[in-house]
Order: sequence, then structure tokens, then C-alpha cells
Amino acid sequence: IAGTVQFADLTIKVTPDVLIPRPETEILVEKIAQTLEKKELKGKVLWDMCCGSGCIGHALKNRFPELSVVLSDLSEKALAVARQNGENVAFKQGDLFAPFEGQKCDFLVCNPPYVTEEEYGTLTPEVRAEPKMALVGGLTFYERIAAQLFGYLNPGGMAWFEIGTGQGEAIKKIFNDKGCVENDWAGHNRFFFLEID
Ligand code: GLN
Repeated sequence: IAGTVQFADLTIKVTPDVLIPRPETEILVEKIAQTLEKKELKGKVLWDMCCGSGCIGHALKNRFPELSVVLSDLSEKALAVARQNGENVAFKQGDLFAPFEGQKCDFLVCNPPYVTEEEYGTLTPEVRAEPKMALVGGLTFYERIAAQLFGYLNPGGMAWFEIGTGQGEAIKKIFNDKGCVENDWAGHNRFFFLEID
């Protein structure tokens, strides 16, 4: 089913090739915006990795036009949707840092697939109609990103993640006890914020 959803002041087109943007992810954008508002953003680069529909990257570009924004995803089909959802950003296809080889960013935002195989079995048929590759990943994406992040982030860089319910402690460990876990309105672990010095 193709359609549109309202997301952080934007109308985002969705197809069966992308995850439908969630209200929790709007909170993530809002929290990031509060941090970016206090910063000088001219010449700064933000990557939205695992962009799916592109909702996060496009919403941040819309709020902060002076920021250079790059959206990436492994799925060509997801990128085709992301391309229709906004302008003045760049797009890259590939696995996590692979398309960014030799480059650095100032800000990284990622809402990776974080549902476990076990949880996947309990999801509603509506959610399971969304692409499994956008949903199921458990902690693996955080582990893979943590292993490479520091080589790709400029000094003073920051990274923001959406995470799954109950994953906060494990993810904090993955990032060597740096960073902080925040909850959503339901009191579930939902975000992980990392500041590098
Ligand atoms: N929050 C989504 C869900 O409940 C999962 C999103 C994700 O894996 N990034 O289905």
C-alpha cells in the first residue's frame, strides 16, 4: 500500500519498500533539533544512515537548510522513495559506512532495524507487512556502527540513534559506557545519544 504520512511538518510518501515513519521517530527529530538549534551549522555535515523513506534526514534539512545532509540506505528501493521525499540532500546506496569510505561527518543519525527475530513473531500483521529488512536487526547494527563510528566522525561530532524497548543498557555497553539512553513517552528506552570529544 502506497500512501503518505505527516512527519515533522513534512508529507512523507511511503510504499511497501519502506518502514512507515513512527511518532517516536518524530520525537527523535525534535530532540536532535533542540541540540542543532544551539550550534553553528554552516559547513557541517549530517548523515542519516538507514534512511528508509528519508523522513529523518529530510525533516532535519527542512529545519536546518544550512546543514549538508546525506541520506543512505542498503535498499535501492527505499532510496527511490527517499528521493521523492525531499530535495537539496545527497543520496548514497550501501551498507552502513561502506558508501562513506574516506569521508567524515559532524552528525550521524540512525534508526536501524532493531527488532529481534523473537519480537518479530509477536508483531501485528500490519507491521509485518512492512519490509523485514527495515525491522529486524536486534543489536547488530549498533555493534557494527560502534566498531566504525569513531573513524567517520569529526572532532566534536555527535551521533543519535533510535533504539528498541529494553535495549538501552546493552547499547550503552556497546558504546563503552559513553552516551545516554532516553525514554519515549511510554517510558520505554527509545533513544541513544552520543557526544564525542
Ligand atoms: N519501532 C518500530 C516498530 O515498533 C521498529 C523500528 C525499527 O526497527 N527501527 O515496529
